[in-house]
Amino acid sequence: MPAEFFSEISNHATPPTYRFFDGAGWKESTSAATSDVTSPIQGEILGRLQVVTHQEIDQALANAQKAQPQWESTPLHQRVKIMHLSADWIRHFRGYLASLLIKEIGKTDLEAQGEIDRTADLIDYFADEVQSIRGETLDSDNFPGFDKGRLAMIERVAYGVVVAIAPFNYPVNLAASKIVPALLMGNSVVFKPPTQGGISGVHLTRLFEKAGVPQGVLSCITGGGGDIGDYLVGHSGVDMLAFTGGSDTGVHIAKQAGMVPMLFECGGNNPAVVLPDADLALAAREIVRGAFSYSGQRCTAIKYVLTTESILNQLLPQVLNNIKEMVRMGDPRSPETKLVGPVISPSAAEKILQAISESVGLGAKIEIGGKRKDALVEPTVLTHVKSQMPVVAHEIFGPLVSFIQVASFDEASEIINSSNYGLQASIFTRDEGTGINFAKNLKVGSVQINGSPQRGPDHFPFLGVKHSGVGVQGVRYSLEAMSRLKPVVLNKPQ
Ligand code: NAP
Repeated sequence: MPAEFFSEISNHATPPTYRFFDGAGWKESTSAATSDVTSPIQGEILGRLQVVTHQEIDQALANAQKAQPQWESTPLHQRVKIMHLSADWIRHFRGYLASLLIKEIGKTDLEAQGEIDRTADLIDYFADEVQSIRGETLDSDNFPGFDKGRLAMIERVAYGVVVAIAPFNYPVNLAASKIVPALLMGNSVVFKPPTQGGISGVHLTRLFEKAGVPQGVLSCITGGGGDIGDYLVGHSGVDMLAFTGGSDTGVHIAKQAGMVPMLFECGGNNPAVVLPDADLALAAREIVRGAFSYSGQRCTAIKYVLTTESILNQLLPQVLNNIKEMVRMGDPRSPETKLVGPVISPSAAEKILQAISESVGLGAKIEIGGKRKDALVEPTVLTHVKSQMPVVAHEIFGPLVSFIQVASFDEASEIINSSNYGLQASIFTRDEGTGINFAKNLKVGSVQINGSPQRGPDHFPFLGVKHSGVGVQGVRYSLEAMSRLKPVVLNKPQ
């Protein structure tokens, strides 16, 4: 059944070359150029993606512009139905899609199935929530100097064409989290999947197409971000940009795009603060889970822990013990493997090792780990770390957690607030009031008290400040972000 359903999206060679979708059909690029998608597990080429030309990008955007008004005027209940059907198709192909994710981005079976299930649930939730989004009317006499009778009828309308760019670490979920609210609010979407994760992205597009998204309303254009990205994001046909990826990429895209509305989720680099009254067993468990799940390749991973010397002396042995119990590095296809599989490529692994070795050169100490084989990086714990060292100054996308000893918790706040990143922070304390007060001083998107950073539940607001993002997501917030207010004012002063 998958073979038949997905038949049109590739040329069936070994390895297959995947077509791009310009909204009208599945096509091979006239560029004749492709990019390889290589499995992080054993390094084999899983498939090739088209590198589209500028003319093909023009065409996808033109198709999107043409189809959008009709799509926005399609009754909402029909758009909702198509989205529920997409969620059903995703559930139908759950095992097949999860196996693609395992091969393409090295997730364990549990992590891959989790991403697929969560995506289907998210789409259903979006489709339900959109039905409670409504406009409002405002009368004029609230404001001094105005009488009644100027009536603003305020609707939520689509922006037009949304470009959605997803990262490799959740190529299905973080694609759907942009495509679905954009479509439900009446936009058309040009989707650019990550290269690594692009095979999953092409499959996802097919599921939406088969669920009934009309021609032109959704396209999927492929090619490396470095090859096609600047032309795409700077295109005059783009009305809004939704992006997830690294902070440097985000800053670069924002400069290229100019004055269009943006919804960006970028790098994380999240700290955990362990206060003197913390439940250390809980903190140690959450630090290990937070730092090492999906090999630390999550924007919400814990990257560094701030605490005082006496607490560190008690906490560290518990963290190291938990690593022995909760983590086993290996092939993500093996049921023996726990939390740590390969990172996305051997070159990404090498960059992680470089940051570790530079930090060790500056005085950091490796407690465990610190080595790699191909794309497998050992779960690594560093102590004697300072905030200026590369392992903390930059987001290291791998299984690594650094411990910074502070003299006071004011110093911990200063370190967090002086970072370029500001996605989430965790605070561990038995006194929730203390946690709430501490949270108030932190310049981050969200604070977790007694838990590791996380995105879900998906209807909670999710946002980053500073170089961690622009705008707010979360089901209702994403629907609002993917639309704008349009007041029409009736002037009948009395
Ligand atoms: P990335 O290298 O920045 O790439 C992200 C996406 O941008 C990919 O689709 C990439 O395409 C594309 N891209 C690259 N250069 C571009 C350009 N000039 N114009 C347009 N698009 C361009 O990030 P990644 O390595 O895939 O993902 C990891 C990063 O994402 C981490 O920093 C992580 O923290 C962040 N992230 C953040 C969140 C959040 O919610 N805050 C969630 C998940 C991930 P190619 O793959 O083809 O290069």
